Amino acid sequence: MRECIFCRIIRKDIPSTGVYEDADIFAFYDINPIAPVHLLLIPKLHIISLAEIEEKHHTLLGKIMVLVPRLAKKEGCADGFRTIINTGYVGGQEVDHLHIHIIGGGKERLPAMIHRPN
Ligand code: 5GP
Ligand code: ZN
Repeated sequence: MRECIFCRIIRKDIPSTGVYEDADIFAFYDINPIAPVHLLLIPKLHIISLAEIEEKHHTLLGKIMVLVPRLAKKEGCADGFRTIINTGYVGGQEVDHLHIHIIGGGKERLPAMIHRPN
């Protein structure tokens, strides 16, 4: 089985543009950005998705969430940003390692996230 692409990015087997790293967390630019700032914030622990979160991940998730606004501001999201966590097939998750998208950095309001059927 091929190893998780984000675990390989954490190990620096695959290069990425990193913006933050500590013992538990890594943050880097998305390879296919949809806005001037498009970061991915991930735990170093290989957790498949938000659906696999357990009580023992409480502190780790708290650390990650506290970092979100700090990194967004540091990278230039002065007027707000969007966070997205895609989960599983229905959620549109493509990489099976929990990640938070941080998207922003432009002047315009981002388009509506979900288009409502009429
Ligand atoms: P998902 O659809 O799972 O929420 O998002 C996965 C994201 O990972 C996508 O936005 C995709 O562009 C990004 N991605 C996939 N492979 C790589 C990679 O090798 N390097 C980086 N920096 N981003 C990646
Ligand atoms: Zn992984």
